[in-house]
Amino acid sequence: MNCEMCGTEDTLVVALVEGVELKVCKKCISYGKVLKKPVFAGSASRSRKVEQKSEKETVILIKDDFAKLIKDKREKMGLRQQEFAKFLAEKESLIHQMESGTYVPPIELARKLERQLNIVLIEEKEIAPQRMRAKTDEVTIGDMIKIK
Ligand SMILES: [Zn+2]
Repeated sequence: MNCEMCGTEDTLVVALVEGVELKVCKKCISYGKVLKKPVFAGSASRSRKVEQKSEKETVILIKDDFAKLIKDKREKMGLRQQEFAKFLAEKESLIHQMESGTYVPPIELARKLERQLNIVLIEEKEIAPQRMRAKTDEVTIGDMIKIK
């Protein structure tokens, strides 16, 4: 195969040069944008390697034991729910519901409580991106088992 730009016989890659797809040699790649990596004979297994996505997603969660954390803090402060509610400028019923775990504070409220009480109610978890999002033909049965 000869390079469509300089004519050199070499391993060619498909590159986009000024909007035109050309098969060019390694030296000419710099003229354009590489569209496809060359596939060398005998390295089929290597070229089929699944791309590892490195970017992770962060999920923000309210801690499971938020109710206990709030209650413990209030008790340490020696306040009754009514006084505690006043201190936080929240309704007493809201404090009661949070301490009994029936009301999960939204992130915004949790952040406010964290600041005012100097406790940690929010945890950020890094999760690997779900492989299921990949093209279906890339998900093998092995992958499906790993996901579960
Ligand atoms: Zn060339």
